Amino acid sequence: MELIARLDQQLQSLDERSLRRTRRVADTPCSPRVQVDGRPMLAFCSNDYLGLAAHPRLIEALREGATKYGVGSGASHLISGHSRAHAVLEERLAEFMSPHLESARALYFCTGYMANLAVLTGLTVGDRNAEIFSESMNHASLIDGARLSRVSVKVYPHADLEALAVLLRASSAATKLVVTDSVFSMDGDIAPLPALLALCERCGAWLVVDDAHGFGTLGAHGRGALEHFGLQSKYLVYVGTLSKAAGVGGAFVAAHASVIETLIQKARPYIYTTASAPALAHALLTSLDLIGGAEGIARRAHLQALLRQMEDGLHLRRWQRLPSMTAIQPVVIGANDEALRVAAALLEQGLWVPAIRPPTVPQNTARLRVTLSASHSTQEVAQLIVALNALEKEMT
Ligand SMILES: *Cc1c(COP(=O)(O)O)cnc(C)c1O
Repeated sequence: MELIARLDQQLQSLDERSLRRTRRVADTPCSPRVQVDGRPMLAFCSNDYLGLAAHPRLIEALREGATKYGVGSGASHLISGHSRAHAVLEERLAEFMSPHLESARALYFCTGYMANLAVLTGLTVGDRNAEIFSESMNHASLIDGARLSRVSVKVYPHADLEALAVLLRASSAATKLVVTDSVFSMDGDIAPLPALLALCERCGAWLVVDDAHGFGTLGAHGRGALEHFGLQSKYLVYVGTLSKAAGVGGAFVAAHASVIETLIQKARPYIYTTASAPALAHALLTSLDLIGGAEGIARRAHLQALLRQMEDGLHLRRWQRLPSMTAIQPVVIGANDEALRVAAALLEQGLWVPAIRPPTVPQNTARLRVTLSASHSTQEVAQLIVALNALEKEMT
């Protein structure tokens, strides 16, 4: 078959299985109240959990950063792109996470995807005596990082510490890397990190925690899952993204200084890419001020109140709200086409909630992925609850 016809045939097959994805064009900044494809909408889909993405102080900080440092970095970090803004941010991040690590140092990345590729490859590549133990519901970037490492990868079932313990004990690898999301992005549940860390310490393994959805939202000061559980260890390798609760972009790895130095020397996703705009790093200093300060505390408290409102207000029989205690509030519908119809019906009412389908989630668990933000009001969440309760009845 001709090359383009082959692609078109594959795309058509996506349509037939209700799997074709589309993009909507937002004309306004990220906020619950957006204008999408020209229409005003109430959105429950961003990962801007604290509502900082369009915060006036961050906008001002980004402007100041651009004035001070220009826009482009011009080169990779190891050539000439490592600006004072990046260096200061890394110091602040290391200090912020230091209660949970030993000899903490931090490394800033352009994206969380790249940070995960860097950790999984940087700590294993070229080491025939390394093995990765990966939780089955891990984010795609961790799965891709494990593949790219080209070392042996063992997948353990979701939250199954006994299965993991069996795998770890059977391994003779000198470098063992246990890798997990903290908050799982499709179910909103939290990994049993205290028991995982204890197991890793017993077995001499690193514990890599991807806290994309926890950083900024969990813990009294927003230090994420490690603070939430009160963990501290020199074997923790912490990945926090700065694109979600922090409202800007990029990510960081915080870990023992020897881990960070190894990544700088060996991690290709760190070495072979241009450093991000220094102005972003500069703006992130203000994000950290907001997250760690009184405003962050107030925003996290409001987010918790909204979660309880969802829990108390949804009365579903056929569909199921997963018992999530995080800003990710999935409502499992089941069939792909029904999930799409529900999302379309919500959209009719001006409510924007994404339908998530396989392969992102397991077969027959297509769902609405409601994400809450501290910038939603209780009235807005009530509007969603009323709509979902009514739609479930109508659609049976
Ligand atoms: C969003 C996300 C990432 C990727 O972070 P980006 O900064 O968007 O590249 C990694 N891991 C998890 C669990 C995520 O949810």
